[in-house]
Amino acid sequence: MPVLVYVDGKMVPKEQATVSVFDHGFLYGDGVFEGIRVYEGNVFRLKEHIDRLYESAKTIALEIPLTPEEMIRATLETVAANGQKDAYIRLVISRGAGDLGIDPAKCRKPTVVIISDTIQLFPQELYDNGAALVTASVRRIPMEALDPRIKSLNYLNNILAKIEAKRAGALEALMLNHHGLVAECTADNIFMIRQGTLKTPDLMQGALGGITRAAVLDLARKASIPCCETVLGLHDLYNADEVFLTGTGAEIVPVIAIDGRRIGDGKPGATTKKLLADFRLLRTKDGMKVPYRG
Ligand code: PMP
Repeated sequence: MPVLVYVDGKMVPKEQATVSVFDHGFLYGDGVFEGIRVYEGNVFRLKEHIDRLYESAKTIALEIPLTPEEMIRATLETVAANGQKDAYIRLVISRGAGDLGIDPAKCRKPTVVIISDTIQLFPQELYDNGAALVTASVRRIPMEALDPRIKSLNYLNNILAKIEAKRAGALEALMLNHHGLVAECTADNIFMIRQGTLKTPDLMQGALGGITRAAVLDLARKASIPCCETVLGLHDLYNADEVFLTGTGAEIVPVIAIDGRRIGDGKPGATTKKLLADFRLLRTKDGMKVPYRG
C-alpha cells in the first residue's frame, strides 16, 4: 500500500505529494513544523504538539487554515489511512505559494502537509552504551533575533552545528547561546544530573520547549527526583554525574562524553536508565488513539 500524504485537505500518494516551487516554505523557510511519534497506535502527546505548532504559527503571524481540533482530526486520519501502528508524523505549515519577493501578504493561503511515515530508529546499542557530544562553534540564534521556542522551517543554524558534530564523529552537537551558556542540541534538549538533582537549561537560554523535555520533567517529579530549569555552563555539564538528550526521535539518549571529557563513570547512569524505562511505559499511554478502520 503506497504511503498517503495529506496535502491541503486531500490524501495523495507519496509520489504525487508536491508543493509549488513558489511556496515560501521552500523559497524562504517561511513556516513552522512538528515531529510527532506514534507508538502502538498512540500518538504521543498530540495535543501538546498541536499547541506548540499553533504557538509557533502565531508568533510568526501565520494563520493556519484549520482549527486545532481539525488539525488533530486530520493528523489522526492520516495515520489511520496508512494503517500504521508505529510511525513518525511530520506536520508542515508553510506561508504558501506567493511571488519571488519575501512579502508574506503575496501568499494566498498557507500550505498544510501531514506526512506519516516510518522512522529510522537509533540502534539499541546507543541506549546501552551512550553517545558522545561535541560543542559546536555555531551559537544558537539569540532570542532577540529569532526566538528558538519557535519550531520554524529555519534550521540552518542547527544544520551547521550538526555538520560540525558529524565531522567530529559525534552523534549530536551541543549548542551554546551567545553568552556561552548551554542552550540545547541541534534537534534535542539536554539534561544533567548532579548530586541527585536533575537540571536542564531554562527555555530563555535559547531552547525549544521540547515535548519530550516536558514529559521527562513530569516523570522526574513523579519519581520525586528534584528538578530545576536553570542556567548551565559547559563546566556544569563536564562535571555532571549523568547527562542525557531528549527528543521525539531520540527519546532519551545517555551521553557519556562531551568534548573529550568523560561524563560520570563513562556509562549510562542509573537515573537516566530509570527515566528511559519510565518513558517507554508512558509513550504508549499518554496521547491520542488512532481511529483505525476495519
Ligand atoms: N530542540 C530542537 C532544536 C529540536 O528541533 C527538537 C525537536 N526535534 C527538540 C529540541 C526536542 O523537542 P521534542 O522533544 O519536542 O522532539
